[in-house]
Amino acid sequence: MTKRYSFEFFPPKTDVGREKLQTVRAELNKLGPEFFSVTYGAGGSTRDNTVGIVKAMKAEGLSVAPHLSFGGDDEGSMLELINGYKDAGIDRIVALRGDLPSGMGATRLVYAKELVEFIRKHTGDHFHLEVAAYPEIHPDAKSYQADIDFLKAKLDAGANSAITQYFYSIDAWHYFMDHCQKAGIDKPIYPGIMPITNFANLARFSRNCGAELPRWMTQKFESYGDDIESSREFGIEVVTRLSEQLLEAGAPGLHFYTMNTVDPTRQIWQNLKL
Ligand code: FAD
Repeated sequence: MTKRYSFEFFPPKTDVGREKLQTVRAELNKLGPEFFSVTYGAGGSTRDNTVGIVKAMKAEGLSVAPHLSFGGDDEGSMLELINGYKDAGIDRIVALRGDLPSGMGATRLVYAKELVEFIRKHTGDHFHLEVAAYPEIHPDAKSYQADIDFLKAKLDAGANSAITQYFYSIDAWHYFMDHCQKAGIDKPIYPGIMPITNFANLARFSRNCGAELPRWMTQKFESYGDDIESSREFGIEVVTRLSEQLLEAGAPGLHFYTMNTVDPTRQIWQNLKL
C-alpha cells in the first residue's frame, strides 16, 4: 500500500510569519505530501488565524486540514466554523479535545470523541477525520489500557485514522501498536515525527505533553553545548533512523511536525529517499 505523508504547521501571529510560511509551504509542497495540517490554539485562541491560513492554502490549491477543538465555542458557532470549512472545499479535519489555555480555568473540555460525533451528525461523511493517538500515553489518561480504549472509542465514533504525538522510542511504538491490535483497532495510525531543531525548547515542551526524551539522547545533545552544527546533525540522524525503523515496521506513513521550517523536515525526507 502507498504510504501517506503529511506536514503540520502552526498559524503564525505576525505578517512576517505569514509571509515566511508561504515560502515554506511552497518548498515543502515540492516534496508531494498528501496534505498539510494547521494547528488550532488552546481554547480556540488562534481561531481566526487558523481559519485564515487554511483558507489561503486551499485557495492556492493545496490539500489542507484544520485542527479543531471545541475550546470556548458552543455548538452553534462550532457548526458555523465546520460549515465554513465545508463551503471552502475543505474535506479533512483533525478533531481534538485540546487543552485549556492558561487563565481559562472554567471552560469545559469536550472529548475528541464528542467532536467526531458532532461533525458526523451534522456533515455526514463529508470530512475525513483524523484523531490524536499517544504511543507513550496521554498525560491525563487513567491507565495505559484506558487510553487505548478511548482511542478505539473515538475511531469507532467515526474517525478515519489517527496521528500520534511525537516520540523517540521505537519500543513505545511497537508496544502501543500491539495493544491497539489487541483492542481491535484496525484503522491506520500515522506516527508523528518531530525533527529536532532546538533541544532545550523541545525538552521544555515535552515535559508538558508527556513525550519522553530518552536519556542517551539528552546526554548526547547536552554534550554538544554551543556546537549548533553538531547538534543539528545529530538531531537529523536520530530522527531519520527512527523514521526508517517506523516505515520498516509497517507504519502506513509519517506526519511531520515541521515547526514552520523547511529544514530539517526536507533533510530527513531526502535521507529517507521518499
Ligand atoms: P481525547 O481523545 O478527548 O482524550 C483526552 C484525555 O481524556 C486522554 O487522557 C483520554 O484517555 C481521556 N479520555 C477520553 N475520553 C474519555 C472519557 N469519556 N472519560 C474519561 N477520560 C477520557 N492541541 C491543541 O491545542 N491544538 C492543536 O492543534 C493540537 N493538535 C494536535 C495534533 C496531534 C496529532 C496530537 C497528537 C495532539 C494535538 N494537540 C493539539 C494536543 C491535544 O489537544 C492534547 O493532547 C489534548 O490534551 C488531548 O486531546 P485529544 O484529542 O487527544 O483528547
